[in-house]
Amino acid sequence: MADTRTVLSIRGAERRYRADHAALAGADLDLQAGRITALLGPSGSGKSTLLRAIAGLERLEAGSIRLGDTVWNDATTHIPPEARRVGMVFQDYALFPHMTALANVAFGLTGPDKNARALAQLDAAELGHRAKAYPHELSGGEQQRVALARALAPEPTVVLLDEPFSGLDRRLRGELRERTVDTLRAAGTTALIVTHDAEEAMAVADELALMDGGLIIQTGAPDDVWMSPVSATAAKLLGDVEIIEARVTAGQAETPFGPVDANGFDDGQPVSVLIRPRALSLSLDADGVFTVTRRRSTGPHLTHRFHSGAGEWTAQTPSPSPITEGDRVSVTLDPTYVRVVPA
Ligand code: ADP
Repeated sequence: MADTRTVLSIRGAERRYRADHAALAGADLDLQAGRITALLGPSGSGKSTLLRAIAGLERLEAGSIRLGDTVWNDATTHIPPEARRVGMVFQDYALFPHMTALANVAFGLTGPDKNARALAQLDAAELGHRAKAYPHELSGGEQQRVALARALAPEPTVVLLDEPFSGLDRRLRGELRERTVDTLRAAGTTALIVTHDAEEAMAVADELALMDGGLIIQTGAPDDVWMSPVSATAAKLLGDVEIIEARVTAGQAETPFGPVDANGFDDGQPVSVLIRPRALSLSLDADGVFTVTRRRSTGPHLTHRFHSGAGEWTAQTPSPSPITEGDRVSVTLDPTYVRVVPA
């Protein structure tokens, strides 16, 4: 059983760069000991600002950051970055160009055995044989691994990684992602990884935190968040979704594909029905009210755009499928991938 002790606790974090715009608007987030939290949000949602506040590079205007019982930042306290023992991996890795890989990793260490400890860290990253190489002699993936080794070497309380895979090509990114997760787990480190890529967030996260407009809008296990988004905004962050606005009547919400259960909502209440493309099944039907306008292959599956007088939507269909552009179809809805949330 994983230890789910809260190590770092952020409450009501506020930070404004401009008077009329809050980069952090009262964000709450807990980081659990030894677990990897992925922070997913669109560009400008406040992810970097939150990371910088945890590192101590930004001071909050309201709210608090606590490590256990120790206040790092609140109305009266601001512990400087160097006293927080936070490891950082920056988007561009920020390695010292004039230092070898070993010197980079040893940089934050003290004591007579610091080079031996740095080498052990490089060995753990399977880069011991590159200890004497300079950053420009290393591939992008190797530089990232050196940056991670440097962040982990002082055995930090928390490691923060800001878009750590964004500089790498797609194939390498998947491989390095797995490796990074393995390294963080082996070190037992509490980590926060910032990304704007939903697939990446799902792949690395023990815990997923969704951020929008300076707020954490949902947290939980990746599967739970994917299956049960709390809002249309949360659903959109994790992938394509059709959003149908409806009003509840007799415990149901009407959609172009038939009614769905809206248990727990009052009659007359406006709701959003969230439908993942895989919830929509098309069948050839000469009397169907929908017409396919576009068919695209994504490899493992197909997407069909289809419309009626009431709108246009996308279905994700198993491949192969005989249904093609211009076909008349009827549509059925799999409630497994449908959620009703307040509008
Ligand atoms: P993200 O990392 O999610 O892209 P940021 O935390 O970088 O978001 O930015 C959040 C908001 O704060 C954005 O509107 C951004 O323009 C603004 N912002 C970030 N840093 C600064 C800064 N140093 N000065 C002024 N505005 C900033």
